[in-house]
Amino acid sequence: MLPTHAFTGLLLALPYALAMPEYAGAALGAGFLGGVFPDLDMYIGHRKTLHYPVYFSALGVVTVPIAVFAPTLLTVVAAFFLLGAAVHSVTDIFGGGLELRPWEATSERAVYDHYRDRWIAPYRWVRYDGAPEDLLLSVTLAVPLLFTLEGALRWVVVTSLAVAVVYTAVRRLLPAIAEVFFDGQLVTTLPASVIAYVPTRYLDK
Ligand SMILES: [Zn+2]
Repeated sequence: MLPTHAFTGLLLALPYALAMPEYAGAALGAGFLGGVFPDLDMYIGHRKTLHYPVYFSALGVVTVPIAVFAPTLLTVVAAFFLLGAAVHSVTDIFGGGLELRPWEATSERAVYDHYRDRWIAPYRWVRYDGAPEDLLLSVTLAVPLLFTLEGALRWVVVTSLAVAVVYTAVRRLLPAIAEVFFDGQLVTTLPASVIAYVPTRYLDK
């Protein structure tokens, strides 16, 4: 789920931030945004449009050493944004598939591999986003962040943790709620501008 990805992005930037205090804010901010960024495709080709497990990884491998040996605001932001986005795109493979109820484990689509032009199947080590093991992972990643970060970033972590707890609590109710809203009559009465924001997996059946 998104908080888990956000914490991963922050944690990837943490050693660099501790070693290079003058770039700490840039590295942590970019890591957080990179960790969140791929899921902006939630409503437009989820896990395909902005998930690039191969290309983000290749760019991350190139840009992180540049940020280490030639630190500037630009190289630091680019490196940790790309690293966060790469690890997000790759780790989605270890979660569930794209189905409406991912705990039923019926989808063979986890993340799209643009390099090989095919879908990668889910490993389901974390059965689905918002599963109890996903929350456990989120909490585990958040602990070192809560001990090291201060100010606004600490509040980002606390708020994300609260989102993670609520999302985990309601996750299995979401498809039923969505079906009531988007099934049959209601969906046809909603304006097209609203329908555009409904993920397609809730509309295609
Ligand atoms: Zn994702």
